[in-house]
Amino acid sequence: MLQVQQCCFPGEPRITDRLNGVGSQHGAMAARGRRSGPNGRPRAAGETAPLDTTPPVTVRSGMHEGVAGWIEVISGVMFSGKSEELMRRVRRAVLARKRVQVFKSSLDNRYGIDAIASHDGGRIQAEPIQSALELMEKVRPDTEVVAVDEVQFLDDDIVDAANALADRGVRVILAGTDMDFRGRPFGPIPALLAIAEKVDKLHAICVRCGELATRNQRLINGKPAPAEGPTIQVGGLESYEARCRRCHEVPSEAHAQTSLLE
Ligand code: ADP
Ligand code: ZN
Repeated sequence: MLQVQQCCFPGEPRITDRLNGVGSQHGAMAARGRRSGPNGRPRAAGETAPLDTTPPVTVRSGMHEGVAGWIEVISGVMFSGKSEELMRRVRRAVLARKRVQVFKSSLDNRYGIDAIASHDGGRIQAEPIQSALELMEKVRPDTEVVAVDEVQFLDDDIVDAANALADRGVRVILAGTDMDFRGRPFGPIPALLAIAEKVDKLHAICVRCGELATRNQRLINGKPAPAEGPTIQVGGLESYEARCRRCHEVPSEAHAQTSLLE
């Protein structure tokens, strides 16, 4: 049986090519060889194929032959339970005796750099990563489940990386907040939502009105932060709370300036 697990758009360099050195060409060439007759010419009508004693050609970089991988995305506002849900899935995978690796973006160091913690105190060990490339370098060939938290902080190559892992049979669980503090799509999350087999969008409770919260409210000194601020503010003095669409406030810089006078 011929299995070609990786595909590329023509001319497009893929993160997986750089890491695996395995492209789709080998598989395509092997496929041509098997379908044609002697010396590469097309087999004539009625001509039977010689007994093929060569082992199956498998273009695949992982160990999970015959196992289909997939991508799950857990998204939603802060405090909606994404980390809790990721930890729940990881614990169940460990109970099922899967080989699991857990990662998180090293930009999130609120609970130390080597652990994922939920806002209600749950905690599991995680390896910090700065990029999709580092993720691919750290995933072991025999790992069956890869979980990554705070995935909104990673670069766009995480999309190819997640696809490559799923293609080679890995269950990929990604958690990240879907919108920035302005309510705009956050980093690679929209693309990950598009390619995932399974998507869960979680909600928190709006701290203002008690409705379902979908927006991340950034506060600076207790006041809504202006839209002009940076999307990622590492080590800043800001804080966040979960709010619904109606209670979410994103003033412009000019408005924030005049409010200083009030
Ligand atoms: P996320 O990863 O989405 O930021 P966590 O899994 O870390 O969320 O935390 C979820 C927990 O946060 C909830 O189980 C609850 O105990 C707590 N929590 C605090 N504030 C809120 C809120 N406004 N709405 C819902 N849960 C909240
Ligand atoms: Zn509200």
